[in-house]
Formats: sequence, structure tokens, C-alpha cells
Amino acid sequence: MSLIVAIDIGGTQLRVAVFPRSGTTPLVVQKTATRGLEDGVYERLTALIDSVWPTEEVVDAISVAVPGPTNPYSGVIISTPNIPAWTDFPLAELLSRRYRVPAYLGNDANLAALGEWKYGVGQGHHDVLYITISTGIGGGVISSDMLVVGWHGLATELGHVTVLPGGPVCSCGVRGHLESVASGPAIARYVSEEITAGRRSNLQPGPHLNAYAVAEAAKSGDELAKEAYGRAGGFIGQALSDFLHVFNPSIVIFGGGVTQAGSLILDPIRESMTRNIMNPSYMDGLQLATVKLGDEAGLLGALAQAHIRLSGAK
Ligand SMILES: [Zn+2]
Repeated sequence: MSLIVAIDIGGTQLRVAVFPRSGTTPLVVQKTATRGLEDGVYERLTALIDSVWPTEEVVDAISVAVPGPTNPYSGVIISTPNIPAWTDFPLAELLSRRYRVPAYLGNDANLAALGEWKYGVGQGHHDVLYITISTGIGGGVISSDMLVVGWHGLATELGHVTVLPGGPVCSCGVRGHLESVASGPAIARYVSEEITAGRRSNLQPGPHLNAYAVAEAAKSGDELAKEAYGRAGGFIGQALSDFLHVFNPSIVIFGGGVTQAGSLILDPIRESMTRNIMNPSYMDGLQLATVKLGDEAGLLGALAQAHIRLSGAK
């Protein structure tokens, strides 16, 4: 039996799974703490791979999901916020040399899109838009059955489009990006700022406040909390209508912790999309769905990437 080794580099955990070439159920999964701010992340990763590496079967490829900008052609991690030492880090080449098999890298949001398309809620669609809204906002696009990756592999940073010129500074340093006004921390920050400015709410302002607490308050009737989700949903819908104009997908798949607030965020998103769309045809039959793969999206996305790359496609 030939095998694929899939790896998910998470902010808190490194996970490795061994899949049969012909299946989606892993034969073995192992994990360890990333401890990205400490030395030795690469050594921890290779020790983890060594612990599952088969002694008899043949491994056809290693495929890795990386959080952060990654060049899928060269296999170099450009940067990854949780592991500062991995800047311009040639992970694919190092793994390929050590294990003597092809190794492929992809951005984790792009690969989650690929995983949902191949094995999740996007199956059967040819044009898929996936957006994940949590601490940050990311995404991936399948267009005519191809993952959109772009010239340097940097395409579809869906959180880094301007929706509020001159707005808050984004994690990338630019003002007014979608991520700066609609991510989980942005929702909590908006509530904190409004309370400090004199608005009434049952929530306590400050850095401890998070989007989950805001969602709970909104569900028990807190007007400011509801408004914060409505405002974020408005911006997300504004950006999504732009993405519909560009990509014309048949399904939009929502992932990430913020979308677990359900109708609190999805209703304002739908309302804003309808208001901002240039022509109702874009929404005609458009499916809005939430992710099916959950925590497995990274590993299954990496598996999908291995199959595509081994078949000779980009
Ligand atoms: Zn940005």
C-alpha cells in the first residue's frame, strides 16, 4: 500500500497523519505542542514524523498545511506569525531531503478550501469560495475546478481587502482591511471602545473581552453586542459581494469561530450581500454553507494537495 503523510502546522499543535493513497481515513495521527516561540520547532516536527513513518510501506509524498503566506511552488514558508523563526524557511526542501520523497506546502486557508471542496460541503461544485473568520480572516477559492494560487502563491487573502478606508490598523499593518473590522478580536474591540465612549452594555470593556462573550451577550438581548455582530456582518457581506463579482462561485463556505455565532452573524452577512450585489443573478441559487470538516480541514486539505500535485497539476 502506498501512503501520504499529511501535516498540519497549527499555532498550538503540530499534527501528522498517515493516509492510505486511496482513502481519507488516517491510519495513524500524532500530535505535539508547537511551542512556536521556542527553539527546535523543526526538530519537534521531524521527531513527530519519525514516530509515524512506516517501515514497510512506501510514502508517495509529504504535504503540509502552513498558517501564513507560503510559496507553494518553491515550498518556502514566507512567514508564519506563531513561529517567528520560520521566516523564508525552506520546509519542503528540508523534508524532501530528509525523507527522500516529494514534499509540498500550502497556505492552510487555501488547503481548507481544497479539503472542503474535495471531501466536505463543497463536493460537486466547480466554483467555491471559502472564508474563515476567527482571530484573523482568510480564505481560498476554487475556480473552474482549480485552486486559485496566483503568481507567487499569494492569491485570495480574503481578509486583506479594504472595506473601511482609514479604519483600524490591520494585523498586516494596512488600515481598514476586512480583518481589522470583522475578525473576532475586532468585534470585541469595537464593543470595548463603544462602552468606554459611554454606550450601555452588560459587558465589561477591556482586553479580556472576546467575540464569544459578545455573542452570548447578544443572545441575551444586549443591544450593543447585537450591533457589533451586525456591523461585522455588514462588512463581511460587503467584501463577499465584491468576491462574488470577481469569482461568481456557486457556494460560499463559512468557517472559523466567529461564524459559530450562527444567525447573529450570518443574517447580517446575507442582508449586506443582497444590498451590495450589482445584480441579483450572482445570488441566484447561491448556496451559503458552513464547514463540514472542522478541525480535520488542515490534514484533509494537505491530503487533497498531495493528490493534486502528484497528478502533475499545480
Ligand atoms: Zn490586512
